[in-house]
Amino acid sequence: MKLRLKCNEATALLLAREDRPLPLWQQLALQAHLVACRACPVVERQLLIMRRAMRVWREESTSGPD
Ligand SMILES: [Zn+2]
Repeated sequence: MKLRLKCNEATALLLAREDRPLPLWQQLALQAHLVACRACPVVERQLLIMRRAMRVWREESTSGPD
């Protein structure tokens, strides 16, 4: 267990989080990194925007023609 992540590790966790819930220590390590890092919060924001867009797209594509 380690709490200091490198940016590529933090990004990997951000991506993994899209697919599955992270173990608590990884969530903590990620949060600690996001507070300390300037680049990774930008990545996180982009992922959030992307996820929201994906959800809208999915809802539109599953609702069918009306
Ligand atoms: Zn970083």
